[in-house]
Amino acid sequence: MCIFCNIIEGKIGADKILESEKFLAFKDINPIAPIHILIIPKEHIESFNEVSAENMADITSFIKEVAKEVGVFEDGYRIITNINENGGQEVKHLHFHLLGGTKLSWPKLG
Ligand code: 5GP
Ligand code: ZN
Repeated sequence: MCIFCNIIEGKIGADKILESEKFLAFKDINPIAPIHILIIPKEHIESFNEVSAENMADITSFIKEVAKEVGVFEDGYRIITNINENGGQEVKHLHFHLLGGTKLSWPKLG
């Protein structure tokens, strides 16, 4: 079972922000911004490449709820999902990074 499935099952602790029937949001253990939340489907989906359009529609609404919950909805924030090797995906369970709480830089990444 992957690390995020273990968090969903409660076998590994996490600082939860918001939960619904299908999705979970919790704080990243190694934050790179003042606010750094991970948003995941409870279903094990490997990456963005495997997610259905229907699930994306649902998770979009959930992400906006999380942004409101942590108080960044109006001021702004960033959503990132890393995909496979070149995308730098370390945990093979679809997750969206929600970053905010400051004016984020836009670094050259390549
Ligand atoms: P990726 O590099 O796959 O896009 O992002 C994985 C993220 O998961 C990283 O930002 C990392 O800090 C976070 N992470 C890895 N293991 C854990 C954990 O056990 N708990 C929490 N809360 N975050 C984790
Ligand atoms: Zn998983």
